[in-house]
Amino acid sequence: MFVFKLGELKKTMCRGMVSDIKMVDSTLREGEQAPGVAFTVEEALKIVEYDLKVGVDLIEVFAPYSEYELRLLRELRRRGLSSKTLVWCRLRRGDLDMALNEEPGWIAVSMGVSDIHLKRKFRGLNREDVLARLSETVDYLHSHGVKVSVHLEDSTRTRVEHIAEAFEKVNGDKFRDCDTLSVLLPPVAYERMRLLKRLTDKPIETHYHNDFGMAVGNTVSAIMAGAEWVSATWNGIGERAGNAALEEVLLTLKVRLGVDRFDLRPLREACRFVAQAARTPLSRNKPVSGSEIFSVESGIHQDGLLKDRQVYEPYPPELLGETWKLVLGDSSGKAGLTHVLNHELGYKLPDDPREVREILSWIRRRAREEKHYLSRSELEEVAKRFSLKKRSHLDRAK
Ligand SMILES: [Zn+2]
Repeated sequence: MFVFKLGELKKTMCRGMVSDIKMVDSTLREGEQAPGVAFTVEEALKIVEYDLKVGVDLIEVFAPYSEYELRLLRELRRRGLSSKTLVWCRLRRGDLDMALNEEPGWIAVSMGVSDIHLKRKFRGLNREDVLARLSETVDYLHSHGVKVSVHLEDSTRTRVEHIAEAFEKVNGDKFRDCDTLSVLLPPVAYERMRLLKRLTDKPIETHYHNDFGMAVGNTVSAIMAGAEWVSATWNGIGERAGNAALEEVLLTLKVRLGVDRFDLRPLREACRFVAQAARTPLSRNKPVSGSEIFSVESGIHQDGLLKDRQVYEPYPPELLGETWKLVLGDSSGKAGLTHVLNHELGYKLPDDPREVREILSWIRRRAREEKHYLSRSELEEVAKRFSLKKRSHLDRAK
């Protein structure tokens, strides 16, 4: 039923372009802004390799402000990746010329357009002047043969008529809609994007922050309403609580919206690599990348999965190159115990149900005391303690 409803919703989606959605990896720009995150050129290039494996469309990097960025940009060019490189610049001629020197396919100009940015950050800049300057800049960049992404910083706190003015006056090749302070909520993100898509034919890209844990929800809502591009970062690293996690957006696109253009198999390895390079550990239950998301301990879920995976399976772990792993801990039950001890470890549980209950109680107690599920070697000890016999070939055939 639910799937049917989703199908109905898909029909009402703004332009039906979801299957062609394009991804910008902003890890090497936004992720670098996170406190304490600093990649080496080698690490950055490894992240780019993962981007390419997955099918990311653009790689966002800073203008060459230092030796690091300059080396990175030159290496990307040497590897023939100029057309996939988006160089983030402030609205300053110096930044733009430095970026143009490295011949990227795309340059991004970033400019705050909300009242608070104009009044306080830019000390009273006039909106007309800002838009005129943005427009001139875009034309200047176009005259050098580069595509231009116009990043409207803080646009979710900007009145829609002012965004419409930017769409009208600035000839960007795409516009980035920035939820800089995470003010969106998913239904608002959806309705708002529908409205924006009525105001321009130019592609719109989401760049949503995660201060309230809504970044992926807001991003997917905006995609369903017609946004053509997404900016996200590996593991969601970025300013403060970060951004939409690239891997979570891609998994949602594949499983919930049927988008087939990305390869999900490298996701978990990539997340682990970025976590290590960014010195930002992953929680064990983080969607997509958590070490324990395919471990099942509770008796109810073990029993359901063993009967039919569809009972408790949000998506097949094989999509990410993994399989379900049944583990025995304080909440496990008889079905899981039988599966792990009999079928995985090859023992034969006693026929007497009371003895089986005793083994289960012992495992549960031990797990509670130790505050972890039992490892395979601890289960071997359990088998020894309760004198379990290995199953014969005849038993195994049963
Ligand atoms: Zn940002």
